[in-house]
Amino acid sequence: MAKINTVLGPINPESLGLTLPHEHIAAGYPGWDCDPLARPFDREKIVKVCVRNLEPLKAFGVNAIVDATAVDLSRDVDIIKAVSEKLQVHIVCSTGRYLEGLGKWTYLLMRQRDKIGDMQTELYEGFMQEITNGIGQSGIKAGAIKVSSSLNRIGPCEEAMMRAAVKASKDTGVPILTHTEDGTMGPEQADLFIGEGVDPQKIVIGHMCGNSTMAYHLNVLDKGVYIAFDRFGIEALVPDKVRIATLLGLLALGYADRILLSHDFTSCGFGRGGRRPPEDEKLFANWSVTHIFRNILPALKKAGITDEQIRTMTVDNPRCVFGGA
Ligand SMILES: [Zn+2]
Repeated sequence: MAKINTVLGPINPESLGLTLPHEHIAAGYPGWDCDPLARPFDREKIVKVCVRNLEPLKAFGVNAIVDATAVDLSRDVDIIKAVSEKLQVHIVCSTGRYLEGLGKWTYLLMRQRDKIGDMQTELYEGFMQEITNGIGQSGIKAGAIKVSSSLNRIGPCEEAMMRAAVKASKDTGVPILTHTEDGTMGPEQADLFIGEGVDPQKIVIGHMCGNSTMAYHLNVLDKGVYIAFDRFGIEALVPDKVRIATLLGLLALGYADRILLSHDFTSCGFGRGGRRPPEDEKLFANWSVTHIFRNILPALKKAGITDEQIRTMTVDNPRCVFGGA
């Protein structure tokens, strides 16, 4: 049976249990470390903040989290490992990159410009290193490959990343989790992966709840891949009511076995910190790691969704993505 790499070592897919498949333990947008007013990077303090913000999920029986933080968003596996140990929750960390406009692409672009290295090959070698040998000196191995595309386009770096991810996923069996920008390019992502021969069971097209067009969802779902409604609580992008209405439509058509649920919640952000303007604060009022359990699942049940459908989305689908039966 396939094993899953977690930050505390390999586990069987059956051990995942109730899983949040797209969250962030700690992350920072590229450039935060160039801000002279950024809070000092104090790992111990950051771990404490993360544990405090994540601890409430224990009461809901969450047993596993997939941390979808791309390498270039300051992914820090020592923090993730410490949080996993303290919470006693399985955490799978990712290799992979963020989108062209917001990630750290300069290094690879310069190497390609100077004909030192081919970007797609170097990305593939990096993914393989982190999945099979480990991340830095930590001994921790990545259990997922995160890839990203831009709004309404897949740029050249993004295409190189996706093709590199395809090869690494096929070589290792590790699934591909994606970032779509505002729910665009889902079908194009799925076509690229499937066209290169990736098993649709190993593909989760992410942030699909950024789009409420039924035809768009059906187009992606009918390719056989999983989709994620993974931004519950970020109402600045889409009101949760719209996410729930779209989800209910898809569940009514029988797609419970193809949908995963999460928050894209960052339990500690690096940098300066600070509060949003009060009018925006309202739009993030529900964004926490327990929102789905406190508010979304009850709303789904009220609309007639069964415990079995909920279990399929929150337990069975993550297990299947990671190689379980
Ligand atoms: Zn994310």
